[in-house]
Amino acid sequence: MSSGILIIDKDLCIGCAACVAACPFGALAMEQGVATVDERCTACSACLEVCPVEALSLPTRQADLQPPEARGVWVWVEQAGGVAHGISWEMMGQGRRLADGLQVPLTACVLGERVRDLAMEAIAFGAERVLLVEHPELARFRTETYAAALEQLIEQERPEILLLGASSRGRDLAGSVATSLHTGLTADCTGLEIDPANGRLLQTRPAYGGNIMATISTPVHRPQMATVRHRVFAVPQPDYGRRGEIVPREVTLPPASLLSTVLSFVPASDEVNLAEARIIVSGGAGLGGPDGFAPLRELADLLGGAIGASRAAVDSGWIPYAHQVGQTGRTVRPELYIACGISGAIQHRAGMSTSRTIVAINTDPHAPIFGLATYGIVGDCQQVVPALTRALRARL
Ligand SMILES: Cc1cc2nc3c(=O)[nH]c(=O)nc-3n(C[C@H](O)[C@H](O)[C@H](O)COP(=O)(O)OP(=O)(O)OC[C@H]3O[C@@H](n4cnc5c(N)ncnc54)[C@H](O)[C@@H]3O)c2cc1C
Repeated sequence: MSSGILIIDKDLCIGCAACVAACPFGALAMEQGVATVDERCTACSACLEVCPVEALSLPTRQADLQPPEARGVWVWVEQAGGVAHGISWEMMGQGRRLADGLQVPLTACVLGERVRDLAMEAIAFGAERVLLVEHPELARFRTETYAAALEQLIEQERPEILLLGASSRGRDLAGSVATSLHTGLTADCTGLEIDPANGRLLQTRPAYGGNIMATISTPVHRPQMATVRHRVFAVPQPDYGRRGEIVPREVTLPPASLLSTVLSFVPASDEVNLAEARIIVSGGAGLGGPDGFAPLRELADLLGGAIGASRAAVDSGWIPYAHQVGQTGRTVRPELYIACGISGAIQHRAGMSTSRTIVAINTDPHAPIFGLATYGIVGDCQQVVPALTRALRARL
């Protein structure tokens, strides 16, 4: 008998109700002396552990993926037009560290059309093995085709851990794959470690509006899946002399009639590549209004930098969301971050605290941003920023 995800063998069930008490989601009940389950079931497995007669099980697809069969660390290499997204190599650095900790191989999954060069690059960035899937239908990212390909690879090889970048595509793909395989996914991690006690992946991410850091583990389901935001981790140094194995793989993709059709690609009109910027001049509520960004733009243009903003400035409609830095905006890691009229709330710091040099300009000498800043200037940014621009211009 089954409803939702759990499978209940009513011939084995003895009606002890141990599973009902163990279910954290209230998804189990007893009806006529037999356990029943409803759609609140998340396949967390708490009931499996307490059932004395093994009357409960998970669908075969997930059961096949569970330990001890699961092995190895995988990284999905995101690419567009054969060019890797920088986040892929950041993930590769973390994957290498985790694989070394577990003493297992690191495998890169390269999906696309004519992407063999990327497989070689993945080896340079730390992979021992690359699963290479080349297919004309994978030339452009589509969730259905990429998810189908990745799920087949996972079912063939059963990795323990799968890391993806928390880009738009990575988030899309991770959610789809985790749902199909009934496994756990921790999105937007800021830290990944191996639990020395049991070898599980410890996935740390901000929770409750960024006020606490939660560490999440996936005790039963495999693979343990995590996405990590761009720029949270550094890109490792590639070694183009490294050797590794490239394993071509065939997959069956859904028929074209079931796929969504891509009509065209329209680049976003307000293209702001904050994540790649080496210098960012960022403005907050202290700018007083949209015109307050004008001197910041002048300084950014002079330095060849980009404009960032706090959520307060974005929410006020002074500047588009694409400029927002922080927990619900972009994560940045520039050489120089100049925070103008920004108080330094924890949610803002979550997106810029790993900047190499931070300059803060604020009228309040007690503003929290000064606790993080390399250099602090107490003053009105409408005076200080133009003065900085003038001084720099005189030197250039
Ligand atoms: C779930 C959640 C997610 C969030 N995500 C983000 C996020 O991604 N990014 C983000 O930034 N925030 C985020 N926030 C909001 C965050 O908590 C703060 O409210 C926000 O960062 C404040 O922006 P601010 O520093 O510009 O404004 P304020 O906190 O109002 O600070 C303005 C600062 O400007 C200074 N000032 C005033 N006048 C001048 C002047 N003339 N010259 C110089 N300094 C001056 C003041 O002393 C003050 O320190 C989030 C909040 C929540 C709850």
